[in-house]
Parts: sequence; structure tokens; C-alpha cells
Amino acid sequence: MKQNKGIVFFGGSFNPPHIGHLRLAIEAWEAFNAEIDRVIFVPCALHPQKNPSALLPFSLRCEMLEACIRHLPFLGISTIEGERDEPSYTYETLAALRLQRPVTPFYFLLGSDDYEQLPTWYRGLELPRLTNFLVVPRGVYTESDFIAQTHLLWPEAGHTTVDRGRMCIQGGGEAVFFQTPSLSVRATDVRNRWCAGRSIDFLVPSAVRESLSRHEARVREIWDGGV
Ligand code: ATP
Repeated sequence: MKQNKGIVFFGGSFNPPHIGHLRLAIEAWEAFNAEIDRVIFVPCALHPQKNPSALLPFSLRCEMLEACIRHLPFLGISTIEGERDEPSYTYETLAALRLQRPVTPFYFLLGSDDYEQLPTWYRGLELPRLTNFLVVPRGVYTESDFIAQTHLLWPEAGHTTVDRGRMCIQGGGEAVFFQTPSLSVRATDVRNRWCAGRSIDFLVPSAVRESLSRHEARVREIWDGGV
């Protein structure tokens, strides 16, 4: 890997991975490949804020992601959060990754729904010490919303000289508004449809649908218990 190129980390539950996640990772790579080498999915092991009993096993979520991205060499997976027993705190994950790569620029990719929730994350407002952000709209969310939100999170944030959608945050990082075609798929809806016996064709890659069928009894036990 070239030393000066960055890495996009894309954290989430991926319970299950769906086309919204996969398309977003591809769009990020295509938009930023002059600055980055790869987009890495970082599935959480234990989500600090979501119902743990509804989460498919870490290994199964990783297996599904792997099957989806096998043919896409610019995408990868980090299993770092599966190597710890505690809840998967993004701050700690990025701090650990930072030790492995002291000089690589990091970009944390997240939807505007999660960006708004940063104050509720463990050391969420300190994340700019460790990473830049790429913020993608989820639902109706404009560049003006992004700018207002960034000022709310970090009142002293300012615009870079490059463009309005790229803001400097005190502590180090930049927050970049990443406007890309949005797919309004969510994993909750995929789970609800699957549990109701409805089709999830074209909402998830076929590898995910096949994997869910292969593990049907186990998946049903988990999702029926706590979708
Ligand atoms: P759930 O419905 O279980 O809450 P989800 O579909 O939101 O799941 P996550 O794994 O929680 O998926 O999402 C990981 C990250 O991907 C979050 O930052 C989220 O905002 C973003 N994301 C998820 N789906 C989309 C989508 N369709 N378009 C853009 N961003 C998305």
C-alpha cells in the first residue's frame, strides 16, 4: 500500500449487509480513490446501543460481507471488533487501528443518522483526534443540514478553503459531506421482511439471501426473538 493514501473505515452492525451498505462502499471508493486505497468494513461484535440478542453471530455477518465483496479488490473487512469481549466502541477500535498505522489518513464513513448521534457514542466528540469523517445523507439531509449539524457538534468547526462541504474540526480531523445517490434500504426492514416470509430479493446481494437460507433455523431463532 502507498503510505500517503488513506483508508475508509465503514463501521456498522451489517445485520445483515444490504445493498445500501454495499453501494455506499463502492461509491465512496469511486469518489475518493485519488486519496484512499481501500474501503474497509468494520462489523461490530457487540453493538453498544442495539439489542444484542437480535444480532446474528459475528462470524456469520463477516461471512456474508466476505461473500459480497469477494470480486471487489478495493473493499475489505476488518475483524478487529470480534477480537474483543467488550462492546465495540468506535473510539477504541480506531485508536487500536491508529497504533497499527500511525501515519495513514483515516476516514470514518457514516450515515447522517449516526453522525447526529455522535454525542451519545463513547468519546464520540473526540473521534476527530483519530479520524476524518465522510458523512452521507440518510433520508432528506442537505449540505446545509450537514454544516448546521457539524457546528452543533463542534461549535468552533470552520470551512476549509476547498469547499463548503469540507469542514475542519478542532482536535484534528475534517468532516466531509459526501453526497451520493441514496438507497433507502435499512437492515431492520430486511429483517422484518425475512421473518415475515416476504421476499428480500434486490434488497440484499444474492449471497446474503442464500446465506440466510442456509442458516435459516439459527437466523429465525435470533431475529424472531428480537427484530
Ligand atoms: P438497522 O436497521 O439494523 O439499524 P442499518 O440498515 O442502519 O441497520 P447499520 O449496519 O446499522 O445498518 O449501518 C451502518 C452504517 O451504514 C451507519 O452509519 C448507517 O447510517 C449507514 N447506512 C446503513 N444503511 C444505509 C443506506 N441505505 N444508505 C446510506 N447509509 C446507510
